[in-house]
Amino acid sequence: MSRPSSFDINRERMIEEQLVPRGITDPRVLEAMRTVPRHLFVEDAFQAHAYGDFPLPIGSGQTISQPYIVALMSQVLHLTGTEKILEIGTGSGYHAAVLSRLCQKVYTVERLDALVSRARKVFDRLRYHNIISRIDDGTVGWPSEAPFDAIIVTAGGPRIPEPLIAQLADPGRLVMPVGGQNVQELQVVEQQDGVRTVSTIEQVRFVDLIGAHGWPN
Ligand code: SAH
Repeated sequence: MSRPSSFDINRERMIEEQLVPRGITDPRVLEAMRTVPRHLFVEDAFQAHAYGDFPLPIGSGQTISQPYIVALMSQVLHLTGTEKILEIGTGSGYHAAVLSRLCQKVYTVERLDALVSRARKVFDRLRYHNIISRIDDGTVGWPSEAPFDAIIVTAGGPRIPEPLIAQLADPGRLVMPVGGQNVQELQVVEQQDGVRTVSTIEQVRFVDLIGAHGWPN
């Protein structure tokens, strides 16, 4: 066995100090957070801070969420490993990478070309072959691959885009930050036997969801 790197040590501390005490209990989520090398998804200058308890800039004016928020949004989807998931807002690719350890296949959409290209390189390097990405306005979803067992939106919008609701499987779960451009609440939609329930779990701050069913550009 090789000696653990400082990244490995910081990642383990992230689990013990940021995730477990705040109620991340799903063992599969904890294992995914323990496995995915978050430092590979941030710019070199920020690698030493990759496991800190805060969001980080990822270029093009966008941010990678704080580890706890990634874990929380993943946990509320109740994934078992068989699901087909849609993510809107690939960004660095980190959250898609975490989800790819928790389900069968991740379809991820990003509107900014530069971010997709970089994320794809990291997916290839890690051999995360169950992530399919594309450049598009994700507020219209990915109709040709619908329905999805789970949908996750990692940018904040004024409301849940109608096409995403339409592309959610039954049973299915969706999580998204909904609210104003400064602060939002994480909303969870659960669909079962044709009945939809919406709950609110936490106040958050995400970058804007920009598109036909989000904020105007
Ligand atoms: N999940 C990302 C965090 C992304 S930040 C990660 O793990 O790093 C939010 C991302 O949503 C940004 O990259 C932004 O460009 C993207 N975004 C905003 N509106 C979008 C839209 N309509 N469709 C697809 N991506 C969008």
